Amino acid sequence: MIGKRGRIGQNQYKTGGGIPMIRSDLRRVLFFLFAVLVIHSFSWGEEENVRFVVGDIVVEPGETRSGYLPVPEKNGIETRIPVTIMNGFKPGKVLALVAGVHGYEYPPILALYRLKNTIDPSSLSGTLILVHIANLQSFQKRIIYYNPNDWKNLNRVFPGDPEGTISQRVAYVLKKEVVDECDYLIDMHCGDGNEALIPYTYWMISGNKELDELSKKMALAFGLKYIIIDQSRTKDLSDSKYLGNTAVLFKKPAITTESGYLGKTDEESIVRNTRGVLSVMRLLGMIQGEPDMVSDPIWIDKYEVVYSEADGLFYPLTEMGYFAQKGEKLGYLTDYLGNVIQELRAPFTGIVLYIINTPPASKGEPLFEVGSVLNK
Ligand SMILES: [Zn+2]
Repeated sequence: MIGKRGRIGQNQYKTGGGIPMIRSDLRRVLFFLFAVLVIHSFSWGEEENVRFVVGDIVVEPGETRSGYLPVPEKNGIETRIPVTIMNGFKPGKVLALVAGVHGYEYPPILALYRLKNTIDPSSLSGTLILVHIANLQSFQKRIIYYNPNDWKNLNRVFPGDPEGTISQRVAYVLKKEVVDECDYLIDMHCGDGNEALIPYTYWMISGNKELDELSKKMALAFGLKYIIIDQSRTKDLSDSKYLGNTAVLFKKPAITTESGYLGKTDEESIVRNTRGVLSVMRLLGMIQGEPDMVSDPIWIDKYEVVYSEADGLFYPLTEMGYFAQKGEKLGYLTDYLGNVIQELRAPFTGIVLYIINTPPASKGEPLFEVGSVLNK
């Protein structure tokens, strides 16, 4: 087949009538490519990346290594965090990707395993830290929001405490081994097992212009059209609560992304995550190519989570992505005997970013979130 193709090619050149020129041009192009390759390999030699160490995982330039970050035992409870480090040949930025802070949020988790198998560290500049499942115990027991050992929400206990309960100790390890070691961070979430959610990104505002501008670029590069301009996060370093907010408070540009819903593992949500990560990597110069920036972002400048005031059953009356008017009824709550006890209405005109789609409602837990679209 190869010989045959070669002959067809020659015939084509002949009928075209310009063989000598095409051939010499081809030679020139080939020589040029060869020269580029040689120069490129010299430049690798000049600026080689250095060894990268996280916990007791040691990764030489050009290597990928996976292992566990141990979370020490206390009162008989311990856990570990599965991670992969991809250390590029060439120096560059250190980007941390964290999935599974909530263990029932699958597309980001599956996306990171996919990226582990597709990114080649030999063509990578800088270093990727992949935290595959931050909250392993919640993943193992298929629990939404909480860790089943202390019933705390990992994404409310940062920066953690080495002497605290298991969620606080996991947060402490993530702060020390991941936040402190990276230059940039993406905390990758989605609608939890009970949440119907449209894809969106939280752009957390720190007040530091340069830092906020970098985070904004990451948000646009990740590619989700809805971007929340989030001014509401605490500025308290000792009680930073959220992983993404912790990174921002410690001067690391960071975003929190949401892609996926209702415990599904749909291809679209997984790909939205992998595509977003690769685009941010291009933005940071870690891989070749241009980032795919959102061209028509919809900025949300105000959002409100509406919480359940009692235990019972929640009946949603609308779907994720619905554009609600202020005061519009979006769902209702009954007690366990079937009596309606609360009607839930939109606090202002805006888009339903997520809404609970399974019956259990517990006092103090979210029922839906409405975002107000910024009028430019
Ligand atoms: Zn989450």
